[in-house]
Amino acid sequence: MSKWDATLGEELRQLKKEGRYRPLTVWSGGSGTRMELDGRSYIQMSSNNYLGLTDHPALKKAAIDAVDRYGVGSGSVRTITGTLDIHRELELRLAEFKGTEAALVFQSGFTTNQGVLASILGPEDVVISDELNHASIIDGIRLTKAARKIYAHKDMEQLEAVLKESAGFKKRLVVTDGVFSMDGDIAPLPQIVELCEKYDAFVYVDDAHASGVLGKNGKGSTDHFGLHGRVHIQVGTLSKAVGAVGGYVACDQVLKDYLIHKARPFLFSTSQTPAVAATCLAAIEVLKQSGDLIDKLWDNASYFRAKVQELGFDTGASETPIVPVIAGSPADTMTFSDMMREEGIFAQGIVYPTVALDKGRLRFIVTAKHTRGELDETIAALKKCGEKLNLIR
Ligand code: PMP
Repeated sequence: MSKWDATLGEELRQLKKEGRYRPLTVWSGGSGTRMELDGRSYIQMSSNNYLGLTDHPALKKAAIDAVDRYGVGSGSVRTITGTLDIHRELELRLAEFKGTEAALVFQSGFTTNQGVLASILGPEDVVISDELNHASIIDGIRLTKAARKIYAHKDMEQLEAVLKESAGFKKRLVVTDGVFSMDGDIAPLPQIVELCEKYDAFVYVDDAHASGVLGKNGKGSTDHFGLHGRVHIQVGTLSKAVGAVGGYVACDQVLKDYLIHKARPFLFSTSQTPAVAATCLAAIEVLKQSGDLIDKLWDNASYFRAKVQELGFDTGASETPIVPVIAGSPADTMTFSDMMREEGIFAQGIVYPTVALDKGRLRFIVTAKHTRGELDETIAALKKCGEKLNLIR
């Protein structure tokens, strides 16, 4: 018996009882919209590979060439041997793409949020955060000594009230996801910016699910709403639509310099591998010409969401390629996911505590690369399983 059995083991048994125990799904091949699991091919409806770039020929070639030129690792953190010319180039191209003075790359979107939030806020400051912001924002905030205030999801009246009552703080920072990852709705960034200008606060947007998805060529929510120059910190990920892994902050030069000296994941964790940096660089070139691909993404998303709604499912507040289909309890959600899997469709169940206890859901992510045939097959499976489970209104 494991030495952990009475403590951690007991918690795991409790998770099992509540239907919240999730073994890892181990994929053995395939990429894009088809992936293999236990010798069977599934339509992949849960990957963040919005534009299908994970197997783009130019990105694969860039990775292979980088391994040939630099080897497989960068050898250290960014401040020692870990800044290669391709890291610097990537930051220049990202800043240019985002229309900001500078950009700084981290190992992931998660460490970007954690590193930036934890380093720029002190005990005299306040951070004001949407209740549905991502876990990496929550963790970043936990690491600061700043005062913390949470406003109800997208509630601008509450945000204004909080801004009013926090006049005494030195820096005030309002943080929001650009696209909310579990519901697929878009933050009211124009209103947030106006309020921040009125009350002299900084604006921080996490565009993990907006990068490559919203705005011209996928430049993100600031571009989508025409707010260039008015959003002080734009975080993006290189792990979703960009197809590789990594995160970045697009900001001004002073903030970049500050983060180079203070952000702990930047200072104390080895930098992106050469292959990853080169892949991301190649991806930016692809993004610059991605108009048709992004149009296809939004076309596919509208088609899928409309069909799912027509069937009578609850898709929550979705307005992007993230389309949740609400199932209810954790147990019902996981049964639904298993039944879809029987039909050859992989749609991950998302349950409490990631979402509310009665709002478990299958989170579908539509990509530009799904064919109408694959979307129709998914919709037919949803109808069959939804009817069996009485999920259709
Ligand atoms: N922010 C949001 C809103 C996310 O959804 C995610 C990914 N789950 C992250 C940050 C973290 O990004 P990464 O996967 O690059 O660490």
